[in-house]
Amino acid sequence: MATIGFIGLGNMGGPMAANLVKAGHDVQVFDLTQAALDRAVTAGAKAAASAVGAVKGAQFVISMLPAGIHVERLFVTGDQPLFDVVEPDVLIIDSSTIDSETAKRVASAGAARGIDFIDAPVSGGVGAATAGTLAFMVGASEALFDKAKPILDGMGKNIFRAGESGAGQIAKCCNNMMLAILMAGTSEALNMGVRNGLDPAVLSEIMKQSSGSNWALQVYNPFPGVMPSVPSSNGYQGGFQVDLMFKDLGLAMDVSQQSNSPTPMGSAARALYMLHRNQGNGALDFSSILQLYQEN
Ligand code: NAD
Repeated sequence: MATIGFIGLGNMGGPMAANLVKAGHDVQVFDLTQAALDRAVTAGAKAAASAVGAVKGAQFVISMLPAGIHVERLFVTGDQPLFDVVEPDVLIIDSSTIDSETAKRVASAGAARGIDFIDAPVSGGVGAATAGTLAFMVGASEALFDKAKPILDGMGKNIFRAGESGAGQIAKCCNNMMLAILMAGTSEALNMGVRNGLDPAVLSEIMKQSSGSNWALQVYNPFPGVMPSVPSSNGYQGGFQVDLMFKDLGLAMDVSQQSNSPTPMGSAARALYMLHRNQGNGALDFSSILQLYQEN
């Protein structure tokens, strides 16, 4: 069992750290908010007073932060960069969803100092983070992937090596662009059905068993009351914020531009999420995109 420093205990990081405790690891945690730290301590982790404290003596460091700027500051450019203080043989696993260029830049800055840093973003949402069934998309050499896998196994079910450094973030970006398109499309279809007198639960079941079936219908229905225990049935609280989905769609547009890849559907999904966000819905779960259709 390993000593693991875990930074960022939000909707995803909190349950991920709790699963590492359950797997028998010694988990040292830090978050900027006290409430998040308290929850992790209740789950059996040891709270540190700073990120520097959390990585002390750790063989593995995992970060689960909002965006690339937070990751780069934490490890390279901040007041107390963790690259200055980690143990020499540490493996740093960043599971935040960030742009591939930042991931590669941070990995290079680490490599220049003999520190291993890999990108390992996740898919599956808070439900999978809690159940320990996340999918990990790893950008790393085969040797570093093999070193990380036993740790990732404690938090996930499907652990993929997408390619070398940065490749995990490209895979994640493609996946989330598709997720945004699917969630908007599912909301569009459900709203039209309901406006034509259908029961959203009946229509969802029909589409789930038909050719329109997709992840949103199977495990994350956007229509309130159709599925218990998903954000739509809880006022769109928790889950995956509109702000974060909007960030991910921005990353997808950057990748599209850099690689000259046509993404008309991704671009439309980004415009829809921007409208929804500009109406003050940034902190709601991303399945609340349904409201944009309901209001128009
Ligand atoms: P969140 O906003 O709930 O959590 C982020 C946490 O990081 C917060 O608790 C915040 O206090 C903490 N934090 C920020 N800067 C920090 C710092 N310098 N030091 C310590 N703690 C710091 O976000 P989340 O939903 O947990 O998402 C985290 C990442 O995972 C994002 O990149 C997101 O895109 C990605 N993601 C989220 C989901 C989801 O369903 N929520 C799914 C897959 C991927």
